[in-house]
Amino acid sequence: MQPMWGLVPKLPLYSAFYRLGRPVLLPFSLVVSVSYRCNSRCKTCGVWRIPSNELSPDEWRKVFSHLGRAPFYLTFTGGEPFLRSELEEIVIAGAEACRPGVITLPTNGLLTRRIVEETDRICAAARYTQIGLNLSLDGVGPEHDQIRGVPGNWDRAMETWRGLKELQSQRKNLVLSVHTVVSKFNIDRIREIVDGLQFLEPDSYITEIAEERVELGTVGWDITPSAAQYAPVAGYLAARARAVRARGLARFTQALRANYYQLARQILERQTQAIPCQAGWASGHIAPNGDVWSCCVRAEPMANLRETGYDLRPIWAGKVGGMRRLRASIAAGECACPMANASYANMLLHLPTVARVARDVLIPTRPLR
Ligand code: SF4
Repeated sequence: MQPMWGLVPKLPLYSAFYRLGRPVLLPFSLVVSVSYRCNSRCKTCGVWRIPSNELSPDEWRKVFSHLGRAPFYLTFTGGEPFLRSELEEIVIAGAEACRPGVITLPTNGLLTRRIVEETDRICAAARYTQIGLNLSLDGVGPEHDQIRGVPGNWDRAMETWRGLKELQSQRKNLVLSVHTVVSKFNIDRIREIVDGLQFLEPDSYITEIAEERVELGTVGWDITPSAAQYAPVAGYLAARARAVRARGLARFTQALRANYYQLARQILERQTQAIPCQAGWASGHIAPNGDVWSCCVRAEPMANLRETGYDLRPIWAGKVGGMRRLRASIAAGECACPMANASYANMLLHLPTVARVARDVLIPTRPLR
């Protein structure tokens, strides 16, 4: 596995890329959407309505071989990624070609057998990569089913979780997380939900704010909690993250997470980038059909990988497509959002934030009562 610390010496180069335009570096955090198909009908997402002209496993193989060792974080998402019958093949191809430190797979947990069996084989094949399985739970019991639009979803998700927990005793590179989307539908009960999910004993618990994203087809849906609603929640989540007893990298991750919640609060309050967004430099997103985006919130296709023989580099270097124009717009602050994937990369590249995270790592916090 690439150690996380291997990324640290490269961070100044990413800062130079953002400020000076060189050296041109491929993103260290890359999200790959393998399909828009989904068997959930969430109140916060309409991605399942969007047709996807999906890249084949062979096409993905070519993409990964061009990427080489650039990505440290590789996320395979959807839709529901496990609906894609070749998911395992695609993920393993990415793991073998890129050798990332971390692969993340979000899931709604509906396809129990497929999720557990494929996760097992992915963990076995990508032994030197941390495989993070994130189970999405937006409420406890019937509340979850209601938000996700699938009767019985909670029970099936629980069955999947039990299977994954069992698997974890054999697969040491498997990390199990629970992920909650904080939206207008659950913000008023979020403390009870967060506390109510802890019986699952996840390795980590993460939340993200429901956003109006072009990718999800949710622009104009009015699903994002207001800044006033989110502020106390951010304080609670940050205190929880700081109170987790962890060591080494896990402690650093918790400190980063605590700072993310405060950053998300500031972004909602100010409606501006509270720290510079480096999506389009340090992080990026590839759509199911090979379109290249800075991020899924803007989801503006810069060019398609099929046009460049599946090589991201000419698109990322601005030789093909509209990357330069998009970067100018992002650097000018023409957009702002608390999207987690981009935010974590942004935080690693922002020295005052890194200093705050370091302080949180060094100064112990009292356990939460
Ligand atoms: S601020 Fe948000 S919308 Fe704008 S580029 Fe960054 S991640 Fe995308």
